[in-house]
Amino acid sequence: MSVLRVAEAVVRTDTGRQRRGNEDSSFARAPLFVVADGMGGAQAGEVASQLAVEVFGEGLPPEGSAEERLATRVREANRRIHRLSRSESEHAGMGTTLTAALLEDAVLAVAHVGDSRAYMFRGGSLQRLTRDHSLVGELVEQGKLTEEQAEEHPQRSIITRALGPEPDVQVDTWSYPVQAGDILLLCSDGLTSMIGEDAITRILTGAPDLRRAADRLIDEANEAGGRDNITAVLFRVEEVGDGEVDQPTMIAAPSATSTRPATAPRPPAAAPLPKNGSPEPRAPLARRQGLARPAARPRRNPRYAKPVAALVAVCAVLFLIGAGGYLATRQLYFVGTNPQGVVTVFRGLPYVLPAGIRLYETYYVSGVPAGQVPVTRRRTLLDHHLRSQKDSSNLVRALELGQLSG
Ligand code: CA
Repeated sequence: MSVLRVAEAVVRTDTGRQRRGNEDSSFARAPLFVVADGMGGAQAGEVASQLAVEVFGEGLPPEGSAEERLATRVREANRRIHRLSRSESEHAGMGTTLTAALLEDAVLAVAHVGDSRAYMFRGGSLQRLTRDHSLVGELVEQGKLTEEQAEEHPQRSIITRALGPEPDVQVDTWSYPVQAGDILLLCSDGLTSMIGEDAITRILTGAPDLRRAADRLIDEANEAGGRDNITAVLFRVEEVGDGEVDQPTMIAAPSATSTRPATAPRPPAAAPLPKNGSPEPRAPLARRQGLARPAARPRRNPRYAKPVAALVAVCAVLFLIGAGGYLATRQLYFVGTNPQGVVTVFRGLPYVLPAGIRLYETYYVSGVPAGQVPVTRRRTLLDHHLRSQKDSSNLVRALELGQLSG
């Protein structure tokens, strides 16, 4: 029996060559991914797009279909942005696009407002999963403009739907069956207004891995002029056997700069139900993609603190336990990386007793591979320093929101 999960995720964002600030925001915590492209003067766009991804950072409602749960959060984000835009003059008129994707039970649910886009790359071909809510997008659908004319249209950046301007927003949602090997791309129009779908297809076909694919997308958008902020979120779906899903959690070296993919165990895959009105993805052509799968995952040996420090710690811990301090250790948290190299919050103490008794457990796995942590922050972030639950969570959340700069 096998299940599908997000094998690897990469986020790249770039101011571009002509804008001063970056008003795009993104969120990547497998199996949920979001891109938002803000608009409005004087950083208001940045506020709107960040607010939108923060709403997703708070999690999805437990009830309803994947599409409904995404749409509920999109409407909540709209309400909050609208409220803020009405209450503070410097935020008046702000708004944002939003494209969210959730992988669940071998189905990708997509919720969408605006002109950011989601694409699926399978068997060497690219399929657009969203419809632009833009003036030119509507004219193309009405047959009044060709795609080529739309690309050159002077009003191509005018969008007809966004989060923020109105108290309520209409959210488009779809569901697509996914397969192992599928690559999903969420991006802002700073990518698609600069390079065409042919170029995106060529890049995804030719790049040796997701990281280099994302870099290439940003580079080519900049080489084409970089007129707008460019954001690309890429993730790949893989199949794993049941035995692989529940891996023991061990603490890797704090200095790990591993670029191991973020992983999220998936529940057993269910056969996707065809939905009325849902665009059907193309027939699968080939499982094998242009992007090479990474080599088999190396087992990482846990690295412990220096022997003397460890001995002192073990004595301290035994004392704590002996003194009924076990409960106290439950109040302690630290940040490190899990065996997949993903930044993780652990509860307990960062030590393993003889006979392999671990004094910690996984509390929260972030969406950020350690390799994405700014180099200057790695040492202080991943040092296993003991923190409160709130401190640890806030720190990792700031990291996920890209607010933890060098
Ligand atoms: Ca934009």
